[in-house]
Amino acid sequence: MSGTDPSDAATPDAATPDATTPDVAARARPLREAVIDLDAITANVRRVADRVAPAAVIAVVKANGYGHGAAEVARAALSGGAAGLGVADLDEAYALRAAGIDSRVIAWLHDPFAEFAPAIRAGIDVGVSSREQLERVADAAVAVGRPAAVHLKVDTGLSRNGVPEPEWPAVCARASELEHAGSIRVVGVFSHFANTSRDVDAAQLAVFDRAVEAARSAGLDPALRHIASSEEAWRDPDARYDAVRIGIAMYGLTPFGDGTTATALGLVPAMTLRTRVAAVRRVEPGAGASYGHLWTADRATTLALVPVGYADGLPRHASERGAHVTIRGRRHPIVGRIAMDQCIVDVGDDEVGLGDEVVVFGDPATGAPTADELAEAAGTIGYEVVTRVGPRVVRTHVGGAER
Ligand SMILES: *Cc1c(COP(=O)(O)O)cnc(C)c1O
Repeated sequence: MSGTDPSDAATPDAATPDATTPDVAARARPLREAVIDLDAITANVRRVADRVAPAAVIAVVKANGYGHGAAEVARAALSGGAAGLGVADLDEAYALRAAGIDSRVIAWLHDPFAEFAPAIRAGIDVGVSSREQLERVADAAVAVGRPAAVHLKVDTGLSRNGVPEPEWPAVCARASELEHAGSIRVVGVFSHFANTSRDVDAAQLAVFDRAVEAARSAGLDPALRHIASSEEAWRDPDARYDAVRIGIAMYGLTPFGDGTTATALGLVPAMTLRTRVAAVRRVEPGAGASYGHLWTADRATTLALVPVGYADGLPRHASERGAHVTIRGRRHPIVGRIAMDQCIVDVGDDEVGLGDEVVVFGDPATGAPTADELAEAAGTIGYEVVTRVGPRVVRTHVGGAER
């Protein structure tokens, strides 16, 4: 034992733990746990909100709040000053309503057979990406007997969703008719960046500006113009308009692909993925570890078995690519092939014990690797790491003001 780390007291093999020691608390934890710090979410939203003001923040909580728990994250984001919430599909929006969240929610990616009437009844704002969708939403609104709140989406160059620019004036003209007829209210015009280069951003902004002008010429008065997600919202004041849609920054990971860390932006990762050492063995030089023996010991060393694998969100591609974990607060490399349920960590001559806490990723202020670092090792992005934390991992929320 190093004797310097307070978590030393948390080793289950320490003598006669009593019910008040951290040891017992640690043992009571789930084996695989994602701890989500809601205060970090709130602080991250506040930080972005301050930066982008007077533009409003729409907090994006799709894909179960990027794996963090949509309703919990939504409440934390609203506490941090978010003016509304964004999700991909209507089912995600209904889940927020079912959790008692009554703020503005916008959903923008629809099942081609989606029924819009329940969305209108639930007061959900609908992103509309085609003439056909516009008609279906308007018809549903007539059936419900109340106007649908619509955000018209223009494709400014992502080629993914949204009305293509040549069709945009006609869609706006039709939306204006429907607005006059009372079946819809166009509350917003929006788009999405391709996150490529500043030149492409500028070209997309030019299309967006033309689209807003065309909407106004058609008699529409969209109060919420929004195009930026975390990256452009952070760096480009010209991209902020009336609102920005923030996902990754709120979770404390970087939106940038250029090596700018979330820490450099003053953001704190909200999710910590932790487990505990399941086995410890000393091996001799030449011992191979895990499937395929991608790794063999070049010295006598100690291997800790960590019961988190690719089924839990640790990318198999990170095998032998420099991924690290912390055990007792010290960084050690994952060696050999990452398996479905487990991986092996080379701790050298450090003392580790059964049950020692292992942090797979978390807040770098604690010395832990970040999800962004793990992503880098796996050749992906932090977004994919946190959204893929598997169902076997128990989510525990900490912090968060009562609302
Ligand atoms: C996911 C998403 C966002 C959030 O993007 P981040 O890069 O996570 O901030 C914003 N807008 C749309 C349309 C999205 O799909």
